[in-house]
Amino acid sequence: MAAVDLEPLIATNPATGAELGRVAATPPAQVREAVARARDAQAAWGRTPWAERQALLRRWWRLLSRDADAWAGAIRDEIGKPHVEALSGDVLPTLDALRWVVRHGAKALAPRRMGPGHQRWLLIPAGRMGYRPVGVVGIIGTWNYPLFLNAAPIAQALAAGNAVVWKPSELAPLVGQRLQEGLEEAGLPPGLVAAVQGGAEVGRALVGADIDKGFFTGGVENGRRVLAALAGRGIPAVAELSGFDPAIVLPNAPVESTARALTWASFVGAGQTCVSVKRVLVVGDPRPLADALAKHARELRVGDPARGDVDLGPLISGGARERVHARVLSAVEAGAAVAAGGEIPDGPGWFYPATVLTASDAAPETALAGIFGPVVVVRDVPDAEAAVAAANASPFGLAASVWSRDLRAARSVASRIEAGMVTVNEAVTPTMHATAPFGGTKASGFGRTHGSHGLHEFTYPQVIFTRRPGGVRPQLFPYDRLPVAKVLHLYRRLFHNP
Ligand code: NAD
Repeated sequence: MAAVDLEPLIATNPATGAELGRVAATPPAQVREAVARARDAQAAWGRTPWAERQALLRRWWRLLSRDADAWAGAIRDEIGKPHVEALSGDVLPTLDALRWVVRHGAKALAPRRMGPGHQRWLLIPAGRMGYRPVGVVGIIGTWNYPLFLNAAPIAQALAAGNAVVWKPSELAPLVGQRLQEGLEEAGLPPGLVAAVQGGAEVGRALVGADIDKGFFTGGVENGRRVLAALAGRGIPAVAELSGFDPAIVLPNAPVESTARALTWASFVGAGQTCVSVKRVLVVGDPRPLADALAKHARELRVGDPARGDVDLGPLISGGARERVHARVLSAVEAGAAVAAGGEIPDGPGWFYPATVLTASDAAPETALAGIFGPVVVVRDVPDAEAAVAAANASPFGLAASVWSRDLRAARSVASRIEAGMVTVNEAVTPTMHATAPFGGTKASGFGRTHGSHGLHEFTYPQVIFTRRPGGVRPQLFPYDRLPVAKVLHLYRRLFHNP
C-alpha cells in the first residue's frame, strides 16, 4: 500500500478550506480482519428472527431521527450543501428508507409457497422459496449524499441478514465516522458492521477481501474496475454509477414552470447529484426556455452554506471544479454558447456558478458527457422522435424526464427512453421514493437499491422442495419400462396441449 493512504484523512469544508477534523485511514490488513470479524458475526445474525433485526434497525432509525438536524449540519459543513438541502435531500430520505425497511422488510423477505410443478407426471412436490442472506456485503460509497447513499444499502443488507463492511468516501470521512458510531450506538452485534476509511487503495483492499457481494456507488471508471476485480472471483455486485440525464421538453410544456423546475433539477447539490438534469432537449424553439432557465440560474445565490441565504454551495474539491470548468471550455469549443455562469469566481472556496449553455447540435453534449457539476446544456430537436433518439444516444441511462401538458404524449415518450427512472413533469425528487427501485442501465450501472428490489439484491432465493416420506416417486430407471411414446402421450394429453 502506498504510504499516502496511511496518512490520516483530512476533512475540509469545501466552502472555506478550513479543516474540520482528521480520521485515521484503515490499513489493508485491517480491512481483511474487519471482513473476517463480520463473517463471524453474520453467522448468528443471519439466523436472528426478523423481530430482533427489526428492533435494532428501528433503534438506529430513532437515533438518526433524534439527531436529524445535527446530521444536516454535519453534511452542510463537510459537503458544502445548504442546510435545508442537506436535511430534505439527504437526512429525510434516509429516515424514509429506514422506515421502509423496518415496516416492510418482513413482507418483502417472507417465504413464498410454490405449488407442485406443472409437469405433474414427474410428481414435483410443492416448494417454499425463501430469501437467504448473501453473507458479507462490501459497500463502497461516495460523498455527494453521504448519509442516504450509504445508510440505505447498509439498512437493507442488515435487514436481509448480512454483515457489512463499508467504505465511506475519502471526501466525507467525518460523516462516515458519525454513521458508523450511530450504528454502534444502536447496539448492533460487535463486528457486524464495520467502516473502513481511506481512498481507492482501501477500496481495493475491501474489493479484494473475502466479501460475498459488492455494492459500489461512484464514477463509471472506478465502478468498472471494481466490477472487473469482483467478476474475476465470481462475486456479484450492484453498480450505481454516473448519469447524464436528459429532460425532453415537448412543444406545449408551460415555459415558466418548466424552467423553474429544471433550474432546481439541474442545480440541486450544485449539480453534483447523479440524477440531476444535464441536458435539455426542446422540441421546437428552445429560446424561451433557455432564456428563462438562464435567468433563474443567474438569480441563484452562490456562497458558503453556513451563511444561510445560499442556494448553491461549493463543489466538493478544487480538482472537481477544475474538471467541471475544463468540460465547459471544451463544450464552448465544440460550439456551445454560455447563457449563464461559466466562469470561476474569485476568492476562497470551490464555488462554481449555475451554468447554462445553449447548443445547436450534439457536439457540446459529447464534450460534457458525465460532467458532475452545475452545468446544463439546452438545444432544440425537430420532433419527439429525434428527442428520444438524442436522449438514448448517450451511453448513460440513469434517469430522465419528459415535460408536457399532454400526459399521454409524455408517457409515450417516457416509455421509450433508455433509463432506470423516468419522470413526467418532475425530476430528481421521485428518485428518493423509498419503495421505487433506484438504479440505471447501460453505463450507469445495474442492480437496484430501495424497496423490495433493493432488499433482494442482498439475498439469494432458495427453494426447498419437500416430499412426504414414502409415497409414489417417479422411478425412471430402467428406461425401457417407460416408452418415449407413452411419456409424450401422457404429457400432451394431461398437461400440455398447445
Ligand atoms: P469515484 O468513482 O471517484 O469514487 C467512489 C468510491 O470508490 C470512493 O469511495 C473511492 O474511494 C472508491 N474507489 C475509487 N477507486 C476505487 C477502486 N479502484 N477500487 C475500489 N474503490 C475505489 O466517484 P466519486 O467522485 O466519489 O463520486 C462521484 C460519481 O459518483 C459521479 O460520477 C456520480 O454520477 C456518481 N454517483 C452515482 C450515484 C448513483 O446512485 N448512480 C449516486 C451518487 C454519485
